[in-house]
Parts: sequence; structure tokens; C-alpha cells
Amino acid sequence: MAYIIGVDLGTTSTKSVLFDEHGAPKAYANIPYPLYQDAPDMAEEDPEEIFTAVINGLTEVMRKGKVKPGELKGVSFSAAMHSVILMDENDQPLTRVITWADNRAAKYAQELKASGVGAEIFKHTGVPTHPMSPLVKLIWLQNEHPDLLKQAKHIIGIKDYILYRLFGRYVQDYSLANATGLFNIFTMDWDEQALKVAGITRQQLPELVDTEYQITGLDSAYAEVTGIAVDTPFIIGASDGTLSNLGVNALDPGVLAVTIGTSGAVRTVVDKPVVDPNGRLFTYYLAKDRWVVGGPVNNGGIVFRWVRDQLFAPEKITAEQLNVDSYELLTQIAANIPAGSDGLLFHPYLGGERAPIWNANARGSFFGLTRQHTRAHMVRAALEGIVYNLYLVMLMIEGITGKPKSIQATGGFARSELWRQMLADVFEQDVNIPQSFESSALGAAVLAMHSLNMIDDLAEVQKMVGVTNTHHPHEENFMVYRELLPIWIRLSRNLQGEYDSIANFQRNHPNPNNHSANQD
Ligand code: ADP
Repeated sequence: MAYIIGVDLGTTSTKSVLFDEHGAPKAYANIPYPLYQDAPDMAEEDPEEIFTAVINGLTEVMRKGKVKPGELKGVSFSAAMHSVILMDENDQPLTRVITWADNRAAKYAQELKASGVGAEIFKHTGVPTHPMSPLVKLIWLQNEHPDLLKQAKHIIGIKDYILYRLFGRYVQDYSLANATGLFNIFTMDWDEQALKVAGITRQQLPELVDTEYQITGLDSAYAEVTGIAVDTPFIIGASDGTLSNLGVNALDPGVLAVTIGTSGAVRTVVDKPVVDPNGRLFTYYLAKDRWVVGGPVNNGGIVFRWVRDQLFAPEKITAEQLNVDSYELLTQIAANIPAGSDGLLFHPYLGGERAPIWNANARGSFFGLTRQHTRAHMVRAALEGIVYNLYLVMLMIEGITGKPKSIQATGGFARSELWRQMLADVFEQDVNIPQSFESSALGAAVLAMHSLNMIDDLAEVQKMVGVTNTHHPHEENFMVYRELLPIWIRLSRNLQGEYDSIANFQRNHPNPNNHSANQD
């Protein structure tokens, strides 16, 4: 049997999956590590902890899968986007991993936007101006930790760090380079204007390579520990978001990948780089002639969790006592309410919002409440509001890439039949739930198979990914959503003007019992 290992370097854990040549998972290791949040808005990881997780994960799946010599054809990586590590002249980290979730550069994102420079750079990098972006993080470092930036001989991301430790080379794939905001998607090289604004030189950045690039010559000490032969090709791979599109079989033009986990995203693949004229969607490289256009959404399942914890605390306790899933119980309660929640609308912006509105000051609201509305209406309206918000992202994508033809949907929300059907009804599209295990790791493995000529085309992923459920839009429901969506969207626009005032009020009158930082 021929095997490939796909490794996904995530925000709170590294997942290693041993796939056979048909994309079936044969062994799995999930190794968690802390996300350090010891200062306001900080979200860092320890590079050494991640490296250890990679070595242990590789070792574990090699052992569990009982892989014989010669059977492992390659190892490939997926990684979270937007990470930054500064390395000194002795190749030692000067910082921990500053992750996408780190918000300390917020002020500099605002300045970049206000000056218009952010929008200019966006036109050639495809990365919305936001504190998540390494470009903005470097401006923050330049202003607030100039001593560190001065000492930085190399500026890299988490995957580059792992590869440096395994192979002694600083290399970065186009996909993760693209996510730095320093990479010009039309010249496929570092962007001179972005480098200047970031205050760095191209000599500090890794060597750029394509996502199917192979590296060999694994450090013999790690080869011995993991059981992976020194000459096994490592395929550099790409970013987790783009690989997830591949891993859920959302590769054809017109197929949308919709995810509702803790956060959410809507993404589609196009064959050349296109940039959203309004700067609200990202454009990220996946592989030759495959680019992912989409929007990341903060307010996904985390909002449902808030509804459960704050509005249905007694039911949550009862569910726990009865040993039933509390989300399942709540969706049953919501299922008694008709589509459209009898005219109750909900804007889910509890944590500010990235796409579609890119406003850190956005706040949530119920609109249209009457005395007839119950808590059950509120839970249904919340689930609908999360989907309406994703629909707005879809409308923006549609403006660039044309009308979608179907949806591949993933994430914790897919456990609920009601919520899956709601997605089909609001979007008026067929929704498939792919049967895909660790989609970003599978995406990395498929990229490796292509690089190693084990498959002719990435589209062969469709043979590897089954479908667990399919939902068709129900007319009686989508007719209701057609009436409500324009109101929800208009309302969203009208509220924009007031978000700053209410967020400022909240900042000026902080609740002493609430220490949670605003995550936009
Ligand atoms: P993550 O994005 O952190 O990997 P998941 O994809 O598992 O997490 O998504 C978690 C979210 O999925 C929860 O916050 C909740 O909103 C939703 N969820 C979990 N179980 C159910 C369920 N049975 N029905 C509906 N939604 C659910």
C-alpha cells in the first residue's frame, strides 16, 4: 500500500493523518498546545511546542499505521494563515508565533485603512487590511518593538519554522506567502510597496516556491525518531483555508465551500487571481490555476453557543443531566418555529465582524420583537441570522465569480439537520455535506499525490470524498427568506452608523466583571 501523511498545523493543535492512496484515513494523531493570551489582544503559540507536536504526530501515525519501509511516499503540510515569527542571526526565534488571532496591531490596521494605503496594497496582495495580516503585524512591531524587528534576520511563518528545523532551509509556499499581505498575486513575488510599508527587505523573507514543491534530505535525527526515511519527499503544501476547499471537494468553479464551526467562511475556487474591488474578500493561491476567493466570518457557531449559555442555561443543565447534546435539544426547540421566525431578525455581530462588513465595532441585535415572540423564536432567529450573514458574503463572491451552482458545507453546524436545511433554503442552493476527515490535512495529501504523479489532476479528490447528506431548497421556506433577506440587509446597512457609538459607550463604561477582549 502507498501512503501519504497530511499534517495540519492549526491554532490550538496539530493534526497528523496517514492517508492511503485512495485518500482513506488510516491513522490519526491530534496533539494540542496552548494559545498564549497573557496580554490584552495577544494570541501567541510556542514554536518549539508546535515542532514537538509535529514530530510526535508523525511518529504516532507511522507507528499506528504500521507503515513498512518504502510505503510512505510523501509528507505534506497545511498551516494556519497569517503567522509571524522573527528569527535572529543564529536562527533562534526572537518571538513566539504571533497568530492570526492576535489583535494587537488593530490600531495600525485602522491607520492603514484611513490613509488609503491599505486599499492600494490590497489591490495587488488580495489580503484585506486587518490586524490578522502579517503586513500589519510588522508595522506594529516596527512601531512598538523596533529593537526586535532590527534584530530579525529572518521573518517567517510557523510552517517555515517547522521546515527549517527539519531541513535547515527557509522556504515558503506561494499560498502562505500570499496570506502575509506582502506577496503580489499578479507577479507571484514579494510586493515592493508592501515591503516598504512593513519596513523590511526581501532578504529577510524565505525563498518562494510553488505549493507542490518537494524537499528532501530530512535531518537524520528526526528521520530516526519518526521512522520516516531520510529521502522521503516532503511536499511544502499550502494554507489551511485553501486546502480545506480541496479537501471537501469544492474545487470546481461555482461550487461554494461554506463552513460554520466556531467561526465561519464562504469560499470558492477560480482559475486566475481576481481582486474584490471593495476590499472585502480575500484572494489566496492554492495551486497552479486555482485561486480561492472568499470571506472569513467571526460569528459562526460561537453565537449559537452564546444563545445556549445565556438564553437556555436551564435547558443546557437538563441536557447534561439526561446526557443528550444540548445543541441538539436547542435545534429541536427552534424546529417548532416557522422559517423566518415570525419576522424576528437577528444580526449576529457579537464579536465584531470580519467579512462581510469588516467592522470591529459591529454589535449584535434582535429586530422586530413583539409580545408573541418566545425564546424559541430567538434561537431560530439566531441560527437564521448566522446564515443570512454568510449569504451576504456569498452575494459578494457572486458579484466576482458568478452564480454558485452548489454548496459543500462543513463544520459543527452540520450535525443539525435543521441548520443544514436552513442553509439550502436561504441560499436557494443544493447543499451537500461531504464525508471528509480533516479536510485541510486531506487537501495537503492530495496536493502531495499530484506532486508525486500518483494522480493526474487535483479534481480526482472527488473520488476520495463521499457525501453524507444532501439538502434541496424547500419553496415554502425560501419564499419567506426572499422577503426577509432584503430587510435584514437594509437594516444591516442602517445600523452601521450606530455601531461605533455603542461600541464606544461599551469601551467607556466597561463591565468590571467582564474581562474578555473584543475579537474582531
Ligand atoms: P471548530 O470550528 O472550533 O473546529 P466545530 O466545527 O466543531 O468547531 O463547531 C463547533 C460549533 O458547532 C459549536 O459552537 C456549535 O455552534 C455547533 N454545533 C455543535 N454541535 C451541534 C449540533 N448538534 N447542532 C448544531 N450545531 C452544533
